[in-house]
Amino acid sequence: MLDIRQNNHKLSFEYEARQVGFQQFIQTLLRTLLIAPLGWILIISLAFGVAPLDKLLAWSIWFFVSLIIILFFLNQLLKKPPDINKNQTFVLFIVAYYGLLWGMMAYGAMGYDVVLDSWVLTILVGIVSVNLPSYITFPKAFYFLVFGMWLSTTLSVLLILDRYDLGWKAVFGILIYVISLLYVVKPISNRVLEGIRMQLLNKSLAEELQKSLKTVSHQANTDALTGLHNRHALNKSLEELIVKGERRRNTFSLLMIDIDFFKDINDKYGHGVGDKAIQHVAMCISGQLRDDDMCARFGGEEFVVLLPNTSTTEAMYVAERIRKAVEVTPMQNPFQPMTLSIGVATHQYGMTSEMLLKAADDEVYVAKANGRNQVRVSETDTFNTLPKINEMHI
Ligand code: GH3
Ligand code: MG
Ligand code: MG
Repeated sequence: MLDIRQNNHKLSFEYEARQVGFQQFIQTLLRTLLIAPLGWILIISLAFGVAPLDKLLAWSIWFFVSLIIILFFLNQLLKKPPDINKNQTFVLFIVAYYGLLWGMMAYGAMGYDVVLDSWVLTILVGIVSVNLPSYITFPKAFYFLVFGMWLSTTLSVLLILDRYDLGWKAVFGILIYVISLLYVVKPISNRVLEGIRMQLLNKSLAEELQKSLKTVSHQANTDALTGLHNRHALNKSLEELIVKGERRRNTFSLLMIDIDFFKDINDKYGHGVGDKAIQHVAMCISGQLRDDDMCARFGGEEFVVLLPNTSTTEAMYVAERIRKAVEVTPMQNPFQPMTLSIGVATHQYGMTSEMLLKAADDEVYVAKANGRNQVRVSETDTFNTLPKINEMHI
């Protein structure tokens, strides 16, 4: 049974959710970085002719060389799934550096024209906003991005704009904006991570459930002592074979197998050895069957074998092979030879499963009466068109 409490430690998925969030973040970060040149085009088109070209050029070269290096490293990182424990320091460093890179734009373009100054600040704020969604699954990195950007912008603004007295206002304004964003992002990010956690939890529960269903279904169809199919599974397969056989006119045969003088083994050695003897016979029978055949433990020391697409004659051979295999393979520890009485019945059109089982069981009864250790074949008057073969030894 699925015990949720017992598995709780396995199913909380806090760490796994952070790990998935981290991996998703790096993938989306890569996208954001790929559109970074758009921001560059915007700022250059606004600053061109206003800010000095050498400063713009210096910043642009630094910007693109850094961007290419960052993209290269992130691409390397994505070659196998990134690990939050191993790679987070490196990623946080990259992100802070990326923020710094943008912030330094202020140093290149501000301080020459009041309108351009406002544009630069607006674009910086826009870049923070554009980046925001990709950081939702790994908010820690957002703090680093914003810190890097705010630090360099602040320095630039203070260096360049003190003559305006605008510097402090700009620094303060950006700070308020960034703090507001962080305040808003945190709960959204928590909800997204919670969603990832629930997804992982659901997936794991579904897998556990699937596994439990498989186990339960296996247990419901398996005999615990021998590992063979049980009576329930046999009945199902038998009904299926009857329906299929009648539709396609395929014949199939059934063997009913009973261990001879089994009570004596129980009496002589006790129930434990009796169980072992049953397992031994089960193994001998299984060893004689094809993949398509099915062997089930029918009762205490009785087995039923279903032989699809098998005529009476073929079934007799199989039965005889089984009889012989058990006869020549005694159980060891304790040494105990065993024999079987086997009844063979072949399905004929119109026969029910009960009729078929009874036909084979009747033959077991006859085999017992005739001295045991033999194969008997059912002569079902109304159904069987084959000549009667009462007993065969090959
Ligand atoms: P026969 O040759 O006529 O078949 O004689 P037999 O002694 O084998 O008689 P029968 O087939 O009636 O024996 C069934 C015995 O099998 C009765 C029961 O005590 C024993 N038995 C049934 N199930 C189990 C089991 O799971 N384990 C063990 N050890 N014995 C079982
Ligand atoms: Mg019996
Ligand atoms: Mg018996």
